[in-house]
Amino acid sequence: MTTPAAQTSAAKPAGAEPYRLEGELPMATQAAVPFIEIETLRAREFIPAAREALSSLIAEQGQAKVIRPVFNWAGRNSLFPLHWGLACCAIEFAAAFGARWDAERFGVVPRSSPRQCDLMIVNGTVTWKVAHKLITLYEQMPEPKWVIAMGNCATGGGPFRTAYSVVPGVDKLVPVDVYIAGCPPRPEAMLDGILKLEELIRERKE
Ligand code: SF4
Repeated sequence: MTTPAAQTSAAKPAGAEPYRLEGELPMATQAAVPFIEIETLRAREFIPAAREALSSLIAEQGQAKVIRPVFNWAGRNSLFPLHWGLACCAIEFAAAFGARWDAERFGVVPRSSPRQCDLMIVNGTVTWKVAHKLITLYEQMPEPKWVIAMGNCATGGGPFRTAYSVVPGVDKLVPVDVYIAGCPPRPEAMLDGILKLEELIRERKE
């Protein structure tokens, strides 16, 4: 059985303009934001709609303009943070994945190997003693990857800023994309930070 979209495509005369999914997929007529509405499709509609939309958009705009939004869409909806904790902020990190806040509904799933992660959430006090291990974990993560500094300690040393043993901000060690204020930040704040990161990934060009 063919889909309505496939039937319409088959009827297209040879040499005509690239097919547009008018009335079926509004995103095809909004080239500037081509993958917004596709996120609202039901699962069984997704694969045929995505195949048809991709073919149409690639024919219309060229491969370079289409592939980047697809990667950004996939990346921001399947973030895999590293499953680790440094200090008290890690308790809030853990709570965010419990039943009450359920961070996994945003596609955020902690993984225990840095080689399967694309997000490092630094959730506690970073000491100089652990600094080289943090850098090693970051370097083991594949590209593209992001870092969230969660809490005042990771952001700037927090209440231990003047201690000889504490790194005054994890940005001294790795590049930070999003900072979350608080001592500790609540799970809602962590979720807000993840949504901010998703906005950054949505705009990513490289
Ligand atoms: S910011 Fe506050 S709650 Fe978080 S690790 Fe530092 S002292 Fe603990």
